[in-house]
Amino acid sequence: MRLILLGPPGAGKGTQAKRLMERDGIPQLSTGDMLRAAVKAETPIGLKAKDIMARGDLVPDDVVVRIVEDRITEPDCGNGFILDGFPRTVAQAEALETMLAAHGLELDAVVELKVDEEALAARVENRARESGEAVRDDDTVEALKHRMSVYRAQTAPLIDHYAHTGKLVAVDGMQEIDAVSAQIEGILGKVRNGAVGAAG
Ligand code: AMP
Repeated sequence: MRLILLGPPGAGKGTQAKRLMERDGIPQLSTGDMLRAAVKAETPIGLKAKDIMARGDLVPDDVVVRIVEDRITEPDCGNGFILDGFPRTVAQAEALETMLAAHGLELDAVVELKVDEEALAARVENRARESGEAVRDDDTVEALKHRMSVYRAQTAPLIDHYAHTGKLVAVDGMQEIDAVSAQIEGILGKVRNGAVGAAG
C-alpha cells in the first residue's frame, strides 16, 4: 500500500499516519520528522534546512526528493509506505512519479484531509500560546500563518493534480480522530479491492 496523506499543517496527517503504521504495519515517511532529525544531528542537510524550517518555508525540492528516494528503497518499505508531508509541490509530485516508475512501483491512493482552515488556525494558535516553551521552532503563530499560506500557494495545487489520476479520496478531517481513522481504513479497504485508483 503506497499512500499519500495530504492536508494543511495541523490537519492530523502525522496522527493518522502513526495510527496506520500501528494498525497496518505500513511505515510512516514524514519528511518533516526526517528533516527535524537532520537539524538535530547537524548534518549538512540539517544545517541547510534549519532556518528555512523555522520560518515555515519549504526546503528545496531536490533536497526532500533525495531524502524520500533514499528512504523508499529501504527494506521496510518493501510492502509500501505512507507519505506524510511529501509531496508538497507539483515538482515534488512529478519527481515522486518518476522515482516510483524507476522502481516499478505505483501509488495506490492520495487521501486528502479536508479541514476548516480557520478553525484549524485557532486550534494551532492556542497550542502555540498555551505551551510554555515552543514545542517546535515553527509552532509560533506567525510561522503557522506563513505555513498555511505556503500550503495554499504551493501544496493545494496538488489536489487538482491528483484529482486527474482518479486516486484522490477526500476525508472530513474535522471529525474526531477515531472517525477520521475509520474513514481512512474504509478507503484502504476499497483500494485493496481495486475500487480506488482504477483510473491511474
Ligand atoms: P511538517 O512536519 O510536515 O509540518 O514539516 C515541517 C517543515 O519541514 C515544513 O514547514 C518545511 O519547512 C519542511 N518540510 C517538510 N516536508 C517538506 C517537503 N516535502 N518539502 C519541503 N519542505 C518540507
